[in-house]
Amino acid sequence: MSFFLDDLWKCSQQKFYYKNTLFYEIFFDTRHIIEGKNGVYFCCEKNFNKAKNYINEAIEKNIIAIVSPFKIDIRTCPILIYSNPIKLLQKFAKKHLRKFKNLKKITIIGNNDKILIKEWLFNCLNDTYSVIHSPNNYNSQIGVPISVLETKKYHKIAIFQCAISSIKKMRRIENIIKPQIGILTNIDKNHLKNFSSKKKIILEICLLFKHVEKIFFYCNSQITLNFFKKKIKKKEIISIGTKKFCDVQFITFKKKIIHIKIHAKVYQFKVIVKKLENLFDLLIIIAVLYDLGFSQEQIQEKIFRLKSITISLEITRGIFNSMIINDKYSLNLISMKIAVNKLIYLSNNKKIIIIMDSFLDKDIHFNLYQDIIKFLNSTKLDYVFLIGNFRKKHKKIAFNRVLFLSSFKKLICNFNTVEIKNSSILIKGNQIFKLKKFINCIQYQVHNTILEIDVNSIFHNIKIFKKLLNSNTKIMAMIKANAYGIGSYELAKFLQYYKIDYLSVACPDEGVVLRKNGINIPIMVINYDYNSYDNMINYQLEPEIYNLKTFIFFLKKIKEKKHQKKYPIPIHIKINSGMHRLGFELKELDNLIKIIKKNILYIYIKSIFTHLVSTDNKKNHDFTLKQINNFEKGYKKITSQLHYKPFKHVLNTHGIINYGDYQFDMVRIGIGMYGYVSDKQIQKKLKNVITLKTKISQIFYLKKGESVGYNRMFITNKNIKIATIPIGYADGIFRKLGNGNFYVLINNKKIKIIGDICMDMMMIECKSIDYNDEEDVIIYGKNNSINNVAKLCKTIPYEILTSISSRVKRVFVEN
Ligand SMILES: *Cc1c(COP(=O)(O)O)cnc(C)c1O
Repeated sequence: MSFFLDDLWKCSQQKFYYKNTLFYEIFFDTRHIIEGKNGVYFCCEKNFNKAKNYINEAIEKNIIAIVSPFKIDIRTCPILIYSNPIKLLQKFAKKHLRKFKNLKKITIIGNNDKILIKEWLFNCLNDTYSVIHSPNNYNSQIGVPISVLETKKYHKIAIFQCAISSIKKMRRIENIIKPQIGILTNIDKNHLKNFSSKKKIILEICLLFKHVEKIFFYCNSQITLNFFKKKIKKKEIISIGTKKFCDVQFITFKKKIIHIKIHAKVYQFKVIVKKLENLFDLLIIIAVLYDLGFSQEQIQEKIFRLKSITISLEITRGIFNSMIINDKYSLNLISMKIAVNKLIYLSNNKKIIIIMDSFLDKDIHFNLYQDIIKFLNSTKLDYVFLIGNFRKKHKKIAFNRVLFLSSFKKLICNFNTVEIKNSSILIKGNQIFKLKKFINCIQYQVHNTILEIDVNSIFHNIKIFKKLLNSNTKIMAMIKANAYGIGSYELAKFLQYYKIDYLSVACPDEGVVLRKNGINIPIMVINYDYNSYDNMINYQLEPEIYNLKTFIFFLKKIKEKKHQKKYPIPIHIKINSGMHRLGFELKELDNLIKIIKKNILYIYIKSIFTHLVSTDNKKNHDFTLKQINNFEKGYKKITSQLHYKPFKHVLNTHGIINYGDYQFDMVRIGIGMYGYVSDKQIQKKLKNVITLKTKISQIFYLKKGESVGYNRMFITNKNIKIATIPIGYADGIFRKLGNGNFYVLINNKKIKIIGDICMDMMMIECKSIDYNDEEDVIIYGKNNSINNVAKLCKTIPYEILTSISSRVKRVFVEN
């Protein structure tokens, strides 16, 4: 995009004095501003002080103008005061879109899990037309206008998704887009949240489709459809569903062939989708493509390609300590910008980007590539590899570290010359099969057994706990022991990105790894010894001081380093209130205070805390209160001698649930963030974070009487089929789970583990289940939770999690 600042001001009906200044980006989130000199920051924060902080951050990043709801005195750049910046943006976007008279606009209305429909439709049309679409989940009040503003003259079709939300919000989106084609996915219970009845939603949607000429409606209820038709007159409605009355009707799905009746004629297509739900989504795509005039062969070709589309961002470790970010979203300018932003945020060293898309050799995308190259020029990347048939003109405008490669093979050859040590490599493109081959070359662990970590679920869980807290209570994320065995700096990077207040690790080494990987938020270290004091100080790790001896040594060390360090250094005082693990006894506090007072120039107390031993056991309720009482005494004693107030904190996960009155200034959340609690109500609200999965190595057909595994622990009593999977007790699977005590899941079906679990493998009885070796075998996940495993093994989820061996590859997934 490129716009004049004057136009933005004009849109707000205010006078503007800076003529002819162009801007190219709009930011809503200061984290997304990498280099602000081309952009305008729209501040949507409702709290004045927070808004001020964000605006200052934007100014520091050289933003060229600011739109703010508050009057703030700034001299460095123009500021436009507008009470609701989002509304201004929407107005601006609406005006922009009106410039394109010949653009065909499609709106998809449906909830978030319908993003796939949008991605599919985009992919089906994008090889024929130049299509703009709102990427990822840009279906909100901000996301839609931002996508709209990227519309260019060369776009022929626009696909924007609109989430079903409140009536007011949906109307505003309609008003911006004014689509000609509407796609309405199934109306389900989820949508009813904001509406009193199904009828009401439909009435509302009729209003939204005021300007539409044609509507595709997935609907299996004749009553609903008739009601809809009655209310929405003079528009063409194409109904899609499984029922006879539908214009596009699903008939059968067998052996990957789907039969569909379209206006009384039967068609068949070969498809590769597994879930029936996705099959119905596909039905909508076929209906739209058919209506746009594509032939059966063309449709077949297009939908067959969709098999490779998944929409997520995956992060794994590469060789030579590199980080691989595999972004599977479709390529367009906005998704490109989002991905590069992620790359810059997640990496702190060399940045490499590889772009490969399925349609890179088509003329239609000449302009898109040009725009992408222009954008890449403006970023500070070390290397860019573009694979496809580019034109001379593209090469001319690219900066010198852009390498144009004509084929995928050339990438592997050329890549050898790049020093990838410590680099972060963003791979963008949806040609999964070819890319997989390449990724395998640079991946650190190429192994079928992986621990997948859903980053969004972690933040969902943190949000659930935030709701139990006051808005100003700080959160310290406990990521000791490699984040409870989940990973290490990768998770910390995300936590930093989402602005968590504090991190805590067990030992200095863990902290050093975080610092070396670009984590700059405060880190508290729980335990350490004399040998690690240098590292503690050099890497700004904040020690938990738990006794006088270590404290005195620490002070000595920081004085030795006098010439290089800024004082005072933050420390945390731990009080032993009853656990008897680490911490000061109340009677030792007088001596502690003396030393603190003497060293006031060198250290300052950032926080004082204690650890509660039993926050999820009602039996110990009185003891817990006694612990808190002891702690408060200690806190008072120390602070009565200080002229400042350190943070005060005592609660862990179950403390937040059961002792919210004692949240004080901060809480320390561990296991809850990873999704496991003992409270049933809260557990229901949490999302599953980790999935441990693998693939089958071998299948056996056994006759009655044959045995499986070591010690012949399993002997068949009939002819059966078994499979071997490459995961064993060395990967952290407790042997107790063997011999029929636990199961794994394939296609959500329970399959028993049989015989003894071996070091690196185990066997499962697969009965009649039909599967191939591409199928995921889920060992722990949403439907076979670690909570159950822990109970079976008579332990706690913490032990199960931290037992998952480091040889299991970690994959972080963000949607
Ligand atoms: C591990 C730890 C926590 C977090 O405990 P959870 O039960 O996982 O929430 C909090 N505080 C301290 C001192 C810890 O060591």
